[in-house]
Amino acid sequence: MSTKRLLGVFAHPDDEGMVSGALLQYSTSGLETGLIYATRGEVGEIASPSLATPETLGEVREGEMRAAADILGVHDLWFLGYRDSGMAGTPENEDPGAFINARAAEVVGKLVEIIRQFRPQVLITFDESGGYGHPDHIAIYRYTTSAFHAAADGVLYPELGPAHSTSKLYYASPARRQLLMMADWIREQNYEEMFKDVDPNTLGLADDQINVVLDVEPWQETKAHSWVAHRTQMHSMNMFTRLPAELQRKWRNTEYYQLATSRVGPDVVGENDLLARVI
Ligand SMILES: [Zn+2]
Repeated sequence: MSTKRLLGVFAHPDDEGMVSGALLQYSTSGLETGLIYATRGEVGEIASPSLATPETLGEVREGEMRAAADILGVHDLWFLGYRDSGMAGTPENEDPGAFINARAAEVVGKLVEIIRQFRPQVLITFDESGGYGHPDHIAIYRYTTSAFHAAADGVLYPELGPAHSTSKLYYASPARRQLLMMADWIREQNYEEMFKDVDPNTLGLADDQINVVLDVEPWQETKAHSWVAHRTQMHSMNMFTRLPAELQRKWRNTEYYQLATSRVGPDVVGENDLLARVI
């Protein structure tokens, strides 16, 4: 039996939303899927005081993540135990437990250990922009990229188990074409202040950075269902909760992936399979 495995590595519960169609598509076809979270999203918003307090938010979000993972068919979930660092420039950046203040060798070691246990063929994390620049997203992108290489090198972290070469590393991000599709709506909603320093023409994956386009329309509703499991995050500050249904659907029905590194050759245009050539 050669079950294939796909592992997503993210910063906060709900970050998996941009790859949840892939998780559903591949778990439905018999793959084992796993998710790693650097933090429990302790600094997120709280949609209603009846759901959590700032003190309990991490614990509550872990529970929400477990509920979302059940819906996505993800059986393996890891939390690395760091604290949400908050948005750039906020006081939470200074917390000694914040993920951005963690020692690189320690974070990479934790990821290497899980990669060597789970032995995935495909690893997915954020792209270098972290989607929208959240410092934790950028940090997990960096550490996951390091861990992809370190896990395969038996000289590194020899105490953490036998080396494992993951076949492919993908970066996931919204595509620029999706953001441009939403730009008019964002302007109409007077969200300029949210986007005042940001030009949608420079955000997200440009067309020439995209290697795999997944049509996940069949998993559209299950994707939405898993997303609303993150109840504390369904607040009005969350732009996606305000998106008209039709735009939400368009946003959810396609996912975009950039092949960062491959040990099994490049992706072929039009192939659109994260597992292509993986043995
Ligand atoms: Zn996040």
